[in-house]
Amino acid sequence: MQTTVRAPITFDGTGLHSGRPARLTIRPAGADHGVRFRRTDISLGDTIVPARWDYVERSPLCTRIVNDAGVAVQTIEHVMAALAGCGVYNALIDIDGPEVPILDGSAAPFVRGILDCGLRRLQAPVRAIEILTAVEVQTATGWARLSPGRGLSMGFHIAFDDAAIGTQVKQLDLSNGTFVRELSDSRTFCRQSDVDAMHAQGLALGGTLENAVVVDGDRILSPGGLRHSDEAVRHKMLDAVGDLALAGCPIIGHYEGHKAGHSMTNLLLHALFETEGATRLVEVDAGTRARLPGVNIQPEEIPAVA
Ligand SMILES: [Zn+2]
Repeated sequence: MQTTVRAPITFDGTGLHSGRPARLTIRPAGADHGVRFRRTDISLGDTIVPARWDYVERSPLCTRIVNDAGVAVQTIEHVMAALAGCGVYNALIDIDGPEVPILDGSAAPFVRGILDCGLRRLQAPVRAIEILTAVEVQTATGWARLSPGRGLSMGFHIAFDDAAIGTQVKQLDLSNGTFVRELSDSRTFCRQSDVDAMHAQGLALGGTLENAVVVDGDRILSPGGLRHSDEAVRHKMLDAVGDLALAGCPIIGHYEGHKAGHSMTNLLLHALFETEGATRLVEVDAGTRARLPGVNIQPEEIPAVA
């Protein structure tokens, strides 16, 4: 059955780009509601922004959604990944400004908050998008593809000049709590030169050496080093889980990203839904449900960093 959170869950932190305090509350919602953000700092007009692929304003640094009234929420990808990784596709998320709090730069604090609160089952079956034929998008920098599969699985390849990141490749089957165990605690990463450039533009003002892994050549500048030797590629997969959740329901298929990012995953969803016959909406039986993220999560597997 579909799920939502059992009770409201509040997170306080700082916006990564704005550097301003940000408070977010995940509230229960009914079946087929989807995930929607509501800007509580705006009193006039339409303050609801659906967390859907067709509301995304593509930007290279984060995932930003905008409604028809021009009301926007940005940096939604980590809370979206946490919800999808826990199998939650129905929630109303109140937020008191334009940006989701960055917390520790990963999805683990959101996952812990969601699982500590617990989930409520709703009286409606899970519907999922089954990939019937492979769809791929390419840009000058990389490519991303969705192809048929039995549950949700993912492969990712990144290559950076900085020796501290280098080339990293990972393949994961996302059933049985894999998202929570393997991906949820991996943090955003960036190069010191990117940080300097963003600061010059008034961006990443809430970034710290704790909520992002900052590298410079072969050096990790963040104290405490990495949470995983391949934390960077794990974080890219976390981002992809969050960006794919903007499909609105689980995807049954295999995602492959090669130097992909937020914009490319969104381009891929556009291509997917604009390709006739590439998908069908199915009611998920128990066997398929067991192969999707959010089932068989063991509480002791939530990373302790959260
Ligand atoms: Zn991210």
